[in-house]
Amino acid sequence: MLKNDQLDQWDRDNFFHPSTHLGQFARGEAPNRVITGGQGCHITDREGTRLLDAFAGLYCVNVGYGRTEIADAIAEQAHELAYYHAYVGHGTEASITLAKMILDRAPDNMSKVYFGLGGSDANETNVKLIWYYNNILGRPEKKKIISRWRGYHGSGLVTGSLTGLELFHKKFDLPLAQVVHTDAPYYFRRDDLDQTEEQFVAQCVASLEELIEREGADTIAAFIGEPVLGTGGIVPPPAGYWEAIQQVLDRHDILLIADEVVTGFGRLGSMFGSDHYGMRPDIITIAKGLTSAYAPLSGSIVSDKVWQVLEQGTDENGPIGHGWTYSAHPIGAAAGVANLKLLDDLNLITNNHEVGGYLNKAMADALGDHANVGDIRGEGMLCAVEFVKQRDGRQFFDASDKVGPQIAAALLEQGVIARAMPQGDILGFAPPFCLTREEADEVVGKTAKAVQAVL
Ligand code: PLP
Repeated sequence: MLKNDQLDQWDRDNFFHPSTHLGQFARGEAPNRVITGGQGCHITDREGTRLLDAFAGLYCVNVGYGRTEIADAIAEQAHELAYYHAYVGHGTEASITLAKMILDRAPDNMSKVYFGLGGSDANETNVKLIWYYNNILGRPEKKKIISRWRGYHGSGLVTGSLTGLELFHKKFDLPLAQVVHTDAPYYFRRDDLDQTEEQFVAQCVASLEELIEREGADTIAAFIGEPVLGTGGIVPPPAGYWEAIQQVLDRHDILLIADEVVTGFGRLGSMFGSDHYGMRPDIITIAKGLTSAYAPLSGSIVSDKVWQVLEQGTDENGPIGHGWTYSAHPIGAAAGVANLKLLDDLNLITNNHEVGGYLNKAMADALGDHANVGDIRGEGMLCAVEFVKQRDGRQFFDASDKVGPQIAAALLEQGVIARAMPQGDILGFAPPFCLTREEADEVVGKTAKAVQAVL
């Protein structure tokens, strides 16, 4: 085993970390942490510190760490057949079984699964499929994609454009021209404090209608949205939002992509967020919870309506010109099969629903009256605490106040990991589904202490 200082040096000298302040890290001004193990809801670092991971990695280790059932399935697959491609009709028992298991769980109108590696490439696939779809239907002008400010859909060229967070655009020449953004359904941040939820939803709808009018419905192919905004602040939609948006999209023949990278496979306490909110998507993006991150795997679940046109396209033009070397990678597929079985066998989505509700209520009880807590919100095993300078008149902190990162650091000192969401004043929680009530109490108690220490 390498000595700690040797590993630190190599880390700073060689490793280009994603989403990291590069200069500070290379110069040793920002901490590094080497993770060595995980069990249940806990991870352990190289110093032997045990941490309660209340964000499940990047809200992805849904079944928890150290599941031998998944590890064994991966090992068995690697011994038997580590790789074969999925081009021109090839498959493995694992990839074929997994596609069937996904469709058994997906909304009824879904027809096929295309496998990728991560959420970004899956959304990239979705945009390409939708462009292809409209070309086959003879409407080459209908190509723009509407996304929401504060949405997160990845960090590639198209997907980074779809992402509605400035950090992912700045200095990268994004967003691309084919992407247009509309309002986030973020009721707490409404301009008019007297507005009801219903009025706020009507405003979101009106602003979407205006955008469609301005751009021209015949130029707009699809609308993409997370059932609950995730990285943009963990924001469940106000009541009636998705039904109202769906009506607008149907009226203008605009497809809906439900980005369920976070919400798919149980995070909201139901199998898919689309079911949870009555959305009727044409394509569903899945990733993280598909394998609980035991291996990289994503998918685009394609509805029958889209599939019929794709089939017509290949009948007219030959095989579809879209494929990754690692599409349906057998090891990822084996992990996915074992993971979905585990979710069922251990009843984890039910636990998620119960303990997630408990966590949200306990957080509200502990912090709801704090002078600097503006909003506590969540759904299933997702929870967010939004901090404000002052509750009366709802005065916000500036991102430069770094309240979220400071509270996350104070929480980490007590051995609990939460995520300071990118906008700076929100602390996010998305624990593994196996969280117990005792662990939820620990998360809440220590968060309250961290908040007292900082504010
Ligand atoms: N879509 C959503 C809703 C996400 O939360 C993420 C990642 O957090 C992505 C897409 C991108 O997934 P990946 O990081 O696997 O590319």
